[in-house]
Amino acid sequence: MPRKPTARMWRKAARLLLQGRVAVHAVGPHGILATVEGDEGVYEVVNEGNGWQCTCPYQDYHPSAPCSHCAAVALVWRAVKKGDETDGIRPEGTPDGHQG
Ligand SMILES: [Zn+2]
Repeated sequence: MPRKPTARMWRKAARLLLQGRVAVHAVGPHGILATVEGDEGVYEVVNEGNGWQCTCPYQDYHPSAPCSHCAAVALVWRAVKKGDETDGIRPEGTPDGHQG
């Protein structure tokens, strides 16, 4: 089953972003770590290159569908990746990929 957010999830994700409830803590070439202030609590969202993981309970009820927190961070991730290609703008806390 495809793990794609529904249109409703994208709308909720956009709302989370607009309300400043998404905090990105680390971005690397293949992954991102963020926390999202959801309606029921603050959740940690991680993508290590193989898909999205969130600590919210929604994932337990709907393991085949990403939650709005993942969708919100996915929107940021997409923007960061594009920025990386053009001007290299990144959030603070970007981990060093390698020494030197
Ligand atoms: Zn979630």
